Amino acid sequence: RRIQVCRDVSCHMRGAQALLAQLRQAAANANVTAPGIEVEEVSCLGRCDSAPAVALDDHPLAGPVERILALARSSDPVPPLAAPPVRRWPTDPHADGAAHYSIAREIAARGDAGREAVLAALRDSGLRGMGGAGFPTGNKWAFTRQAPGEIKYVVCNADESEPGTYKDRAILAELPHLVIEGMILGGFVIGAERGILYLRHEYAPERAAIEGALERARAAGVLGRAVFGGGRPYDIEVFVSPGGYIMGEETALFEALEDRRGEPRNKPPFPTTHGLFGKPTLINNVETFAAVPAILCRGAAWWAAQGVGGCKGLKFISVSGDVARPGVYCVPMGTPVRELLALCGGVGGGVAAGKPLLAFAPGGASSRFLPADKLDVALDFAALQQAGSMLGSGAVIFVAEGRDLVELAANEVRFFRNESCGKCVPCRLGTEKAVALVDEALAGRPRAGLVPLLRDLGKTLGRTSICGLGQVALEPLLSVLDNFPEAARQRLGDLGARGNGGRP
Ligand code: SF4
Repeated sequence: RRIQVCRDVSCHMRGAQALLAQLRQAAANANVTAPGIEVEEVSCLGRCDSAPAVALDDHPLAGPVERILALARSSDPVPPLAAPPVRRWPTDPHADGAAHYSIAREIAARGDAGREAVLAALRDSGLRGMGGAGFPTGNKWAFTRQAPGEIKYVVCNADESEPGTYKDRAILAELPHLVIEGMILGGFVIGAERGILYLRHEYAPERAAIEGALERARAAGVLGRAVFGGGRPYDIEVFVSPGGYIMGEETALFEALEDRRGEPRNKPPFPTTHGLFGKPTLINNVETFAAVPAILCRGAAWWAAQGVGGCKGLKFISVSGDVARPGVYCVPMGTPVRELLALCGGVGGGVAAGKPLLAFAPGGASSRFLPADKLDVALDFAALQQAGSMLGSGAVIFVAEGRDLVELAANEVRFFRNESCGKCVPCRLGTEKAVALVDEALAGRPRAGLVPLLRDLGKTLGRTSICGLGQVALEPLLSVLDNFPEAARQRLGDLGARGNGGRP
């Protein structure tokens, strides 16, 4: 049996290496009498709230070490994780007792007027794509509706795989009916007969939740051959990703669905006109689809008013790292990061207890680290960009004083090096080169001119990689050079001009 331990940044901060060492030792002892247990480090398992995340034969598992070992030694099936606590999310319009899918039924009954009402509400609400790009959702839905073609698809991207990011997992587990209702509305507006929920393969428990909800939706007559009692079919299927971070990039995802190697396509053309199988495709992530029913039920003005400081709407945030209560939080868009930190119980957990904050990465492993004095920045696309980082999909990683930021950034760059699909040269070779250079420095042999070389490499990747992975792969590291020069100098050497020894 295989015990898997996540090694990526949030788990690394919460003792993944120590746990690995313990498990390896214990497994070695156990294997003397009954061989058959392997312990391996793996990439993100999507459970940064219970870091260090562990799985047994791909089933998520909670510690302690003795329990993990006992289960690995037995041939019993891995027991399911405890069900999440029942929480009342502010984006669930059915929480007050209204029947599930009542909004979709009402909109569908209005025909074309209903379609126009959806587009108008999305536009007026200011809802933006919550997968990271922040594209206006109303525009995307309108473009896909206008695109010529008889066959169209709806795809829900449920393949969040970036270290620190797991809020879609909570939505899938706790609000699956909203994701489905959003996808039904999307299919109705653009005229699709087929929807696909593309799920990351580590989310087996959430798959059960969404498939149960799909069955209930079919039984309620809102999915299937004759939707809403009419003649038009519409159904949603779950497709489990073959695995790999890049498979969550929207066009790589289409390639995987088309049974090809999952590599990003060059854009344009965009999915609104040329998506899955070359047909117009409405692709949004889990959080975006799940927000649509509330907007239609309570109105665009309600959604817009949920934000603070001039921002619109609500935002689910995954919180991990050095906080007392890591988890998924739903906050008004525009909430200062300082308030989020207070909601999570402040800096704490493990070695961080009682220490001040050093830094935070507001948008997951690909976002730039900001210093603690930027804690009043708003959780918002524009504000975080202005502050020199990004909101991304909304995954805040807090870092306490005493952490080695260069080492954390190197962990993140290693993740992107491993996950590069290899399609384009700058990303394939540049990430490898960066990791080799930094690892050399961390081993106590920084090469002269290293820092300018890393900056050049980062610029080249940013300009020449064809997808977001390569474009931002070195940003965490570059942010440490920019925002924490003393920490960088101590680990990487002189930050000045390139010397002869720095030439590649
Ligand atoms: Fe693949 Fe990297 Fe190129 Fe993206 S930038 S297509 S991950 S090689």
